[in-house]
Amino acid sequence: MPFETALTEEDLRRNIAAIRARMDAACQRSGRSPQDVRLLPVSKTVPEERLRLAWAAGVREMGENKVQEAYGKWQAMRQDMPGLRWCLIGHLQTNKARLVAEFASEFHALDSLRAARALDARLQALGRSLDVLVQINTSGEASKFGLAPQEALAFMRELPAFASLNVRGLMTLAMHTTDEPQVRQCFALLRDLRDRLRQDAPQGAALAELSMGMSGDFEWAIEEGATTVRVGQAIFGARSLPDSHYWPEGKA
Ligand SMILES: *Cc1c(COP(=O)(O)O)cnc(C)c1O
Repeated sequence: MPFETALTEEDLRRNIAAIRARMDAACQRSGRSPQDVRLLPVSKTVPEERLRLAWAAGVREMGENKVQEAYGKWQAMRQDMPGLRWCLIGHLQTNKARLVAEFASEFHALDSLRAARALDARLQALGRSLDVLVQINTSGEASKFGLAPQEALAFMRELPAFASLNVRGLMTLAMHTTDEPQVRQCFALLRDLRDRLRQDAPQGAALAELSMGMSGDFEWAIEEGATTVRVGQAIFGARSLPDSHYWPEGKA
């Protein structure tokens, strides 16, 4: 898909407005309120100068999937952009938990007790807390991170031990295909799982969030119940490297 690079504040405003209009239309089609669906701009690989333009265009939160990259951007921009929220959406290596605890407002890819323990310890030490979503592998693809759906309830039952983690819901990456039914099936699975966990998990009704949908599939995700869509390329422009670069194959 040819996403043109947004080079000016005006480009960014236009792209964001166009996506918001498509989001609102998807809400209308599925009888949902546009206020219930958040657009999280994904800024990975986008350099600082263009993030400053995004701030000028009204963006107040950024999604990043690599801790080191996000941390560097936070450090560079925190003075000028107070209140800019950083949402980590990619897999966490536990040796980076200290950095995440320091600057992140949300973490969408919790998928192990080891990561939960590391984050909680670092957060407690700093007196901070963090909104987290549990990543679920809804496609069954071996390359994807996330818990198997049938592991989710047992996992949720362990999380109250980590007092600094506020568990808000679930996140997924749909199957890597343009086949609409297969993509929708991933989203529907996440929604059904969230609905069941709201009944059975200790977090109950606090499990409101469904973070799902990206540039190529956010409208389907909204029709299937997304509360947050994570959109990068449709806002900022195409990335030069394939997605396999950002979502490492294998789980080394
Ligand atoms: C990069 C990324 C996105 C956004 O993908 P786009 O194709 O740029 O919209 C969403 N979620 C995660 C986890 C990502 O790494």
